[in-house]
Order: sequence, then structure tokens, then C-alpha cells
Amino acid sequence: MIINIIGAGLAGSEAAYQLAKRGIKINLFEMRPEKFTPAHKTEKFAELVCSNSLRSNNMTHPAGILKRELLELDSLLIKTAIKYSIPGGNALVVDREKFSEEITEILKQNPNINIIHKEIKNLNELNGISIIATGPLTEKSLAEDLIKITGKENFYFFDAIAPIIDAESIDMTNAFYGSRYSNDKDYINCPLSEEEYFNFVKELKNAKTFPLKEFEKEIHFEGCMPIEEMAKRGDMTLSFGPMKPVGLIDPKTGKQPFAVVQLRKENKEGTAYNIVGFQTKMLIQEQERVFRLIPALKNAKFLRYGSMHKNIYLNAPEVLNDDMSLKNKKDIFIAGQLSGVEGYIESIAHGLLVALIVYFRVIEKKFPYPEKTFAFGALYNFLREKRKNFQPSNINFSLFSYPENIKKIKNKRLRKEKIAEFSFNKFLEWRDKLLNNSF
Ligand SMILES: Cc1cc2nc3c(=O)[nH]c(=O)nc-3n(C[C@H](O)[C@H](O)[C@H](O)COP(=O)(O)OP(=O)(O)OC[C@H]3O[C@@H](n4cnc5c(N)ncnc54)[C@H](O)[C@@H]3O)c2cc1C
Repeated sequence: MIINIIGAGLAGSEAAYQLAKRGIKINLFEMRPEKFTPAHKTEKFAELVCSNSLRSNNMTHPAGILKRELLELDSLLIKTAIKYSIPGGNALVVDREKFSEEITEILKQNPNINIIHKEIKNLNELNGISIIATGPLTEKSLAEDLIKITGKENFYFFDAIAPIIDAESIDMTNAFYGSRYSNDKDYINCPLSEEEYFNFVKELKNAKTFPLKEFEKEIHFEGCMPIEEMAKRGDMTLSFGPMKPVGLIDPKTGKQPFAVVQLRKENKEGTAYNIVGFQTKMLIQEQERVFRLIPALKNAKFLRYGSMHKNIYLNAPEVLNDDMSLKNKKDIFIAGQLSGVEGYIESIAHGLLVALIVYFRVIEKKFPYPEKTFAFGALYNFLREKRKNFQPSNINFSLFSYPENIKKIKNKRLRKEKIAEFSFNKFLEWRDKLLNNSF
């Protein structure tokens, strides 16, 4: 049996390595160098298209926890990243050229991997089990073919991501619960006085932003607008848009505030909230500076920053089966960022996970799907839980589940240490189940 993998990016390269080392024959299709995405610059596999950081190495940070799990599962990409790491404080920063070069060589020399430089335009070109790992810049024809299968409503072309805030960092003495016209606890409302509002708008208009890439210019026409662009349309625009106070009474004053920023629960537990309608292109340090001008957010801790960029992805909970295959094409698996995970290490992890799932299918064994008590499971279950506005996510603690006694620990550092310890033990239990199934 030969398995097709489409795309030798982060997820595809990791998946090819994992399957090949288990004796599975692979056809690895990559369109570069014949055709490039707007972000890739080289013909090498596993190219890091933007930053060269694989985020925190700290074992109490979700990104550190995910990398540790990846290493335990012999991730080629993480091993290589460590081999070619360069000084970067507490982050895993890599020499991107040496990193990609080595991965390309390892995959090229693997006798189980047959590399084919070709753009796949249509799923009908593929026979048998195939893993689509063509990433956030999947070429147009294949994207159009996928739309036919998933339906337009489950296929997205860009991310308009609002920041996510750690609930504990919200100053509730300056905020109140309630929805427009009701007192339920769905939203946290952060009121601003007239003076605070105009100062906020002024700083938004002056904030430094990421420049738009040429291929991202269409984004603004396609949908929602960055909050700073809205502010530039007129000083009152936001107070009639995402900051409108209508239907909200501040219990502290008994009056409707001049303007309100609404925060919506990001998870069932209510440990994380997103700032409604605040998608932004502001630089990260500018997001911290400007959003902390909102009185209730003056100490805000950002779990995810806002962003807007071209990013093709599927509504995974709607269109994928548990094994990450398409609901109506059971031989076609989706891996990497196309599935709705966000980020380098998340794409690598997802590629690895899908390779293991496919391997179990080949050896006809039942796959032990991971629970969200550790990073791999947190990421996997994020793709299984249906939600109204499905948007890609990095790994973060709001995706993990852990026991009540850990939740109750007041000291944040200690709590994170306990989550890390608990999740690693859970991960090891899961890894043992995998190993017991003849690895
Ligand atoms: C502009 C941009 C910047 C980003 N910056 C960062 C960042 O700094 N940090 C971070 O953590 N994440 C970043 N991301 C998000 C994400 O982590 C990366 O895009 C990551 O590379 C995704 O991995 P992947 O394997 O899913 O896709 P990719 O790594 O993009 O791999 C997809 C591969 O498929 C190939 N391909 C596409 N279509 C076809 C086809 N039809 N036939 C054959 N081959 C095809 C492509 O050439 C590519 O090699 C960024 C994304 C974008 C778009």
C-alpha cells in the first residue's frame, strides 16, 4: 500500500517521516519549485515562512508542553529544530535554512519516500489513502475542489482573530456581567467614560500595525475590518459598532456607559474571553499598550493576540470525522493548519497525530484518541468540538482540562507547574497505549 501526502510543509514532512519510519511507502507531492505559495521563498521542505521561533521552551508554557510531547513521539521537525537552534532566550529559535535543508535531505534519502514535484489540483487525481497537508495557502484549484466537498459555509479563506484574554486578569471592579437587555452572564462588559473612549480611539488610530502583504489586501473587502481601520473612519464609528453601549446598564452607576467593550467566553470553563469584534493588525506590543487603556483590561494577560491574515482552513468539527478524514471522503485525511490548528508547532503536532491515526488504520487497530488532559489531546479535541464561530487556535491552557484541585490553586506559577506535571503524566499514559499497539 502507498499513502499519498500532499504538501511537504511542516505537517506533511512530519507525517511522511512518521509513516516511513514505520515501514509505510509514501508518495510525497510538493508543488514547489514549479509553483510557489505567496509566502514560501525556497524549494526546501518544512520552510518556516515567517518568524523563525518555535515559541517558548518553558515546560509550564503550553507551547513548551506541546514540544516536550512531540519530542517524546520522536518528532523529526522538533529534533531538527533543537539541533539547529540559535540563541533566543527562553524560546526555541532556529536557523531556518539549516533546519529546512536537513529535513529535505532526510526525507529525500528515505527509501520509503517517493518525492513527486507536482501540484495536485483535484482530489480525483489521488488513489487510496491520502493526507492533504497543503496548509493555509493551499493552491486555488485544490481549494476549490475541497469547497465542493465541504460546502462553502465550512471553508474559510482568512482569519480575523480578536485577542483572547485570561479571565483572571480582567479587573471585575471595572466591569460587569450581562448581555444586551438581559443580565445573564454570557458577556463581561467593560465600560468606558467619554474621555476614556476618545483617548482609546486616538491611540488606536496612532497604533503601529503589521503591513498588509500584497496577497492579503483582499481580506478587508471580504469581511470584517480591523478595529484600528474602523476607528480611522470617524471618532464615533466604534461607539455605533462593536463598542455600542445600547441595552447595557452599569450597575455601579445605574446608567448606560458612553461606550462598552464586550468580552465573550472562549471556553465552557470561562477561563478565557475574547474581545468581541476586535480583530486587528496592530503589532503585539501595540495591542498590549492600546487594549490596556480599557480600564477593566489594564492588567490584561493575552492568551492569544489579535491578527488578520490569509488562512485557508476547514470547519473541522463540522466536516471531519474523529480520525480527521473528510466526512464524505473517508480516504482523504486533513493535516496541519488546513484543519484549523494555528501555528508552526501545532501544524507539526497535527501532522504527527494524523500520521499515527493513518498508521493505525493501515495496521487495522483501534486508535486511542487523546483526551484533552495533555497538549496533543487539547489540540485534537479543539478540532472536535462544534462552535458557532470556528476559528483556528494556538495551543493554550484554555484548551486543556485538568482537575478541580489544580484549578483552585491561587498561585499562578504553582498552578501552571501542577498542570504541566498532571498533563505530562496523562500524556505518558496515552503514549504507552500507543506503544503497546506494536510501534
Ligand atoms: C504568511 C504566513 C505567516 C505565518 N507565520 C507564522 C509564524 O510566524 N509563526 C507560526 O507559528 N505560524 C505562522 N503561520 C501559520 C502556520 O504555522 C504556517 O503557515 C505553517 O507553515 C503551516 O503548516 P502546514 O504544514 O499546515 O502548511 P505549510 O507549511 O504551508 O505547507 C503546505 C505545503 O503544501 C504545498 N502545497 C500547497 N498547495 C499544494 C498543491 N495543490 N499541491 C501540492 N503542494 C501544495 C506548499 O507549497 C507547502 O509546501 C503563518 C502563516 C502564514 C500564511
